Amino acid sequence: MQKKFIPLAVFFAALLVFLAHFGTRYTTAARPAFAFAESEKEIFLTFDDGPSTKVTGAILDVLKEERTPATFFAVGEHIPGRREILQRAVAEGHSVGVHSMTHVYKEIYASDASLLKDVADCAAAIEEATGVKPTLYRFPYGGERRKRQRALIEAQGYTVVGWNAECGDGIAKDATAESIFETAVRTAGKKRRVVLLLHDGAGHEATAEALPRIIAHFREEGFAFRAL
Ligand SMILES: [Zn+2]
Repeated sequence: MQKKFIPLAVFFAALLVFLAHFGTRYTTAARPAFAFAESEKEIFLTFDDGPSTKVTGAILDVLKEERTPATFFAVGEHIPGRREILQRAVAEGHSVGVHSMTHVYKEIYASDASLLKDVADCAAAIEEATGVKPTLYRFPYGGERRKRQRALIEAQGYTVVGWNAECGDGIAKDATAESIFETAVRTAGKKRRVVLLLHDGAGHEATAEALPRIIAHFREEGFAFRAL
């Protein structure tokens, strides 16, 4: 009788060792994977065409109130007289990138040389105002320019930033805070990494008005807000 139990006891002992070993491994491996899945939803709020006194100021107020970082792609010619707005953005932890010096399509895209001059002039204006050398770039008039133009700008050390969601504030002149909010949510869809295009140039009061609702929505959906 006893001889029968010995192999059984050995078997159960081996089983316990096996479970203890792989059970622990499974648990420890699963925890970081779960934590990663929880934290990977992120949204980047990006504002083009500023700075403007009223709208950028109102947006900075909301971002401060909500403790939310964002990224501003500035137009160099809008900076004179509004240096303190850009300085405030940097001081409050936001990123400032290059959008264009003039934002005049024909001038910017006349040649490679004019494109690079436009980028360099805008970067110099940002650095002069804030003391920070910008490293981010967004193409004016459309996110996806030709590969060659993108490579030219990347060769200058910039990270070119597009977007994968928008709020419609740049297209529809009569965009309301309601339509801006709804378009942002609709175009973000089920994406887990959202780069949202918004505008903070003059006349975009409705964007500033929609911002608290946009932030509240994505926060409720579990997104982390980040500056680029
Ligand atoms: Zn623009």
